[in-house]
Amino acid sequence: MPKKTTSPTPATRKIRIGWFSFSCCEDSTVLFTELMNTHWQEWKKLFDFRHARVLQSHNVLDEMDIAFVEGAIASHEHEQKLKEIRKMAKKLVAIGACAVAGLPSAQRNTFSEGQKQEIEFLLARFGALPKVLRLADVVRVDVEVPGCPMNPDDFMKKVTLLIQEFQQAQTS
Ligand code: SF4
Repeated sequence: MPKKTTSPTPATRKIRIGWFSFSCCEDSTVLFTELMNTHWQEWKKLFDFRHARVLQSHNVLDEMDIAFVEGAIASHEHEQKLKEIRKMAKKLVAIGACAVAGLPSAQRNTFSEGQKQEIEFLLARFGALPKVLRLADVVRVDVEVPGCPMNPDDFMKKVTLLIQEFQQAQTS
């Protein structure tokens, strides 16, 4: 079980963020890194990247202000990890259609009985859940950024609001 860390002085600390991917194609992660072309200078001053495998090799799962989660929940392992992320995050943001609505990653949920029987051995081998779940089926979700992949303008709008919220909380 990951340990919660002690928060530095609120007035001086950066916003602690994590970026996580579950069952998905990671196209929203690609968009996130593309947004860095224009926002990196600003974000490196604002954010403490606690977990973002696309950006760094050293990642930790500890206390976060915002956890961004992409992809659907397809296995017991995913379910457990998502619950741990939720425990560590003040805000959890579902990124993209798979996280918000399950689809397209959840296509196997719509299989016929015959198709489901054909993939049964694979579900057993990978510890898969009987049905693929959206994030909100497992944990509380605070903000949703829909789209396949996510809409970058909507992402920026919601991130800006979250930044303002944390900055106001630190100065009040
Ligand atoms: S929502 Fe679309 S782009 Fe995002 S992970 Fe799912 S399939 Fe890929």
